[in-house]
Formats: sequence, C-alpha cells, structure tokens
Amino acid sequence: MTAVHVPGTPLVDAGHLVSTSPATGAEAGRLPLATEADVRQAVDRARAAGEWWVGLGFSGRRARLLRWRALLAKRIEQLAELVHVEGGKPVADAIVEIVTAIEHIDWAARNAGRVLGPRRVRSRLILAEFSGHLEYQPYGVVGVIGPWNYPVFTPIGSAAYALAAGNAVVLKPSEYTPAAGQWLVDSFAEVVPEQPVFTAVHGLGDVGAALCRSGVGKLAFTGSTATARKVMAACAETLTPVLIEGGGKDAMIVDSDADLDAAAEACVWGGMTNAGQTCIGIERVYAVDPVFDAFVDKVVTRAGRLTVGPEGTDIGPITMPGQLDVIRRHIDAAIASGGRAVLGGPNAVQPPYVHPTVLVDVPEDSAAVREETFGPTLTISRVRDADEAVDRANALPYGLGGSVFGRRRAVAIARRLRSGMASVNSSLTFAGTSTLPFGGVGDSGFGRTHGEDGLREFGRAKAITKRRARSLLPSMTFERTPTDVARLIKVIKTMYDR
Ligand code: NDP
Repeated sequence: MTAVHVPGTPLVDAGHLVSTSPATGAEAGRLPLATEADVRQAVDRARAAGEWWVGLGFSGRRARLLRWRALLAKRIEQLAELVHVEGGKPVADAIVEIVTAIEHIDWAARNAGRVLGPRRVRSRLILAEFSGHLEYQPYGVVGVIGPWNYPVFTPIGSAAYALAAGNAVVLKPSEYTPAAGQWLVDSFAEVVPEQPVFTAVHGLGDVGAALCRSGVGKLAFTGSTATARKVMAACAETLTPVLIEGGGKDAMIVDSDADLDAAAEACVWGGMTNAGQTCIGIERVYAVDPVFDAFVDKVVTRAGRLTVGPEGTDIGPITMPGQLDVIRRHIDAAIASGGRAVLGGPNAVQPPYVHPTVLVDVPEDSAAVREETFGPTLTISRVRDADEAVDRANALPYGLGGSVFGRRRAVAIARRLRSGMASVNSSLTFAGTSTLPFGGVGDSGFGRTHGEDGLREFGRAKAITKRRARSLLPSMTFERTPTDVARLIKVIKTMYDR
C-alpha cells in the first residue's frame, strides 16, 4: 500500500527534496539532496570564495549587498508568492517579512565598516607607551541553519550580517522551505556572479548536522530549542562557536492604564500573524484584574473577525502537518484542566487550518501556558497587578521577546522581563528595528543577530598593541630592575589604593 502524502510534508524523490504547499499539496520546489561530502565541498568552495569576498573590503561588499537588497525590493511580489505557496503564509505577511529582511540587509551593508573596521582604542596610564588597535575579522565561512516559519527573515538575519562582516555563507534551509532558501542564494548569485559566496545545501536534519561538522568557522542556528541542543553538541566536537536563536513562549502584559483597544490589536496580531507560527509570537497574556474582562472582550471581537483559508485570508494553513497535533493537545489539555475557550476551542483545529482560539482560566502548569504552541491561540490570565504579571511571565525557561501595554510603568516592566527583547505598546516591532540586537536568554538561546551586536557576532575581535614610545615604567620584560618594580608598586598604589 502506498502511503498517502500529507500536503506540506516534504518528500524525498530520486535524490531530490520536493517541497509542497501545505494548503494544496502543489509542488513548490525540487532541490537536489546534499550528501555529507556535498556539504564539505560546499564549505570548501565557500572558504575560497570568502577570501575573494574579504578582498573586496567593506566598500566593495557594501555595494554588492545594496545591489542585492535592490533586487529583493524589485522582486518582492515574486518572492512573497513563493513564500506563500511553499509555507502557506498569507501574501501580506510574506511581504512584511521580506520588507523587514530588506531593511536588515541595507543596515548591515551600510554599517559593517563602521562597527567592525579597524580603529584605535584609547590607552591607559599603565602601558601608555603602546597604542591599541581593534578590528573584527571574519570567520571565513559561516554556516546558517534556518527554520521554515520565516524562511526569508531568519536566514537573512544571520546571513546578511555575516556577509557584511566579510564571511562566505552556506545556508541549510528548513526541509519545509528549501525553495525560498534557494531563491535567496540564486538572487545573491545574480549580483555576485564571480564566486560562490552565498550558497545553499538541501536536505533533512542530517544535512544540518553535516554542516555543523563541516569545518565552518561559526554556525548560526535558528530553530527549536531541542534541535539547538543537538547543534551545540555537534559543534562542540570541533569547538565551533555557535549562535543559538531558539524557541520562545512570549508573554504580553496589560497594565491598568493601558490603551485596551491598541493592546487588543497588538495582541491579536502578535499572537496570530503567520497563524501563530512565530518564535516571538505572543502566546500568553497577563492582564491586570481591573481591565481583564474588557480586554478579553476586545481580543475576542478582533480575533473572531479574522478569516482563515488558503487565499486572501488573515490566517493560512499550519505549515508543518505534525504541528496540528501539538496545537490540538494544548487546547484539549487547557480545557481538561479547567480552562475555557472564549473563542475557538477543540473544534478550531480543522487540518490544515486552525481557527483563532482564545483560552482563559488556564492553569499555569498547563502545556498551553508552558510550551511553544505555534498556532493562532492565546491564553489570557487574570493577575492581581503588574508584579504578579512579571513573575508569571518570567517563570518559564524561555526568554525571547515580550510586550507590555501601559503608560506610567510600561518601560520599567519591560526592563524586568527576563527576555532579550520587548516592545512597549506594540508587539514584535523590535524584530524590524535593524539597529537593535535580536536574541534571547535561557532556552531561547544566546548570541545576537541584527544591529551592532549582530555584526560583531560574525567577526572575531582582533586586538593589536603597537609600541609608540620607550617604556618609562618597564614591567613586561626581564630587563626590568628592582627599582622599576618598586616604582610600579608606587604608581599602582597612588592610582588605586583608596
Ligand atoms: P527545527 O529545530 O525543527 O529545525 C530548524 C533547522 O534545523 C531546520 O533547518 C532543520 O532541518 C535543522 N535540523 C534538524 N535537525 C538537525 C540536526 N540534528 N542538526 C542540525 N540541524 C538540524 O525548527 P523548525 O524548523 O521547526 O522551526 C521552528 C522553531 O524555530 C520554533 O521553535 C521557533 O520558535 C524557532 N524560531 C526561533 C527564532 C529565533 O530567532 N529565536 C526565529 C524563528 C523560529 P529540517 O527542517 O530539514 O529538519
């Protein structure tokens, strides 16, 4: 008996990975499967290409990266359509994703020289006879492993910054979105035809594992926390440094002086854009008692208006068929433990779609509150005050982003969230702010993409001291005399002994 193919599940056929639409099952792309030897070869070729790329200098790379972002802008509708077909994401969401990616390429290209280029650093009195020089040199080849939920934004968040820093990049896209990954590297090759500076290898998890072991200078991983552990273990074998952008269970806090309409709007969008399949998506909400009922009403009204289906809707299909079981389990468990669905509920799961679901009175130990659901679902919990909201928001091992709605205390609350990022009176907006670093704490990972930190992530600090005068206080030499050492003691006591 032949197994029935579930739309959206990748197929392996005659040495190729076949990517299919989760909505219709239509073929979205067919990419050659890489073997371990292919991965090594791709990395070796990239290493040679990287040397050429470094030779272009910051200005040469900047010019090419800006040409690439112009090409993406020119073809934004084409790429959005591919992302829509391959992953099921509504076209408008795909456009927003690509706009954000273009913004990151532009910023990384324009700022890499300033942030990473050689510069003098100030000397101190001790060793004042030496000048200090700092620069960030590329790793050579950076391996980028990406997820399927943002197949343009997440790989570019690493790749554009790594490229701007002078690295070559080998991308392993998710098996669910290989065509989008290939589109990115093909478009890059159009503006940089000379050398394979940015290439892709395709396959399942084993190809990602091979990339970890392929001799790359650094590995940038975006995906689930469970896979992140495997990636770190593989990279540990060769002490290959890693950047981990893991999963999340981001919370929104609604304080008593919040604009409830704005909070409900941001909550529904933050929780349900891309059918809730967003690492920094709002999954849990803590609203303080005086505004809880009014806020829940507003969220239910807005979420209830969202349309669900394959074309021209607000919410598309769930990309990974297997995720439907997770979403169903979370909703069922929430209700079994005393929660109530004030919108949607168990019947909301209608494969490949999930209709908006809002759950209240869900115990904090329920999977719907503790685990990544990755569906258009929200739990909203009543809390006494903002302090209790912060305590509950911070109670999970994850710590990616978060959102706070309020006036007087909102920024102070945002600072207390145990997360790498937070938006005040909006949701997810830090992701599109290319000047700000992006990344998490705890199970959400470490290291940063985007912004100055994101550029530095892809360069090794190289420190150089250069003698500029004779040493008046020689210490780092066997030629020093007891008098020199005595003077050294005197100087250090004068400076610091108080
Ligand atoms: P996975 O962890 O399943 O996969 C991520 C990538 O790792 C895929 O390309 C996957 O390949 C690859 N992979 C799988 N096994 C291995 C292995 N043993 N060694 C190396 N690579 C491997 O995540 P998803 O694709 O399901 O993405 C969703 C997750 O990503 C969510 O948890 C989400 O929160 C997180 N995410 C985090 C973001 C952040 O910036 N912090 C941003 C976006 C998503 P294959 O697909 O072929 O299995």
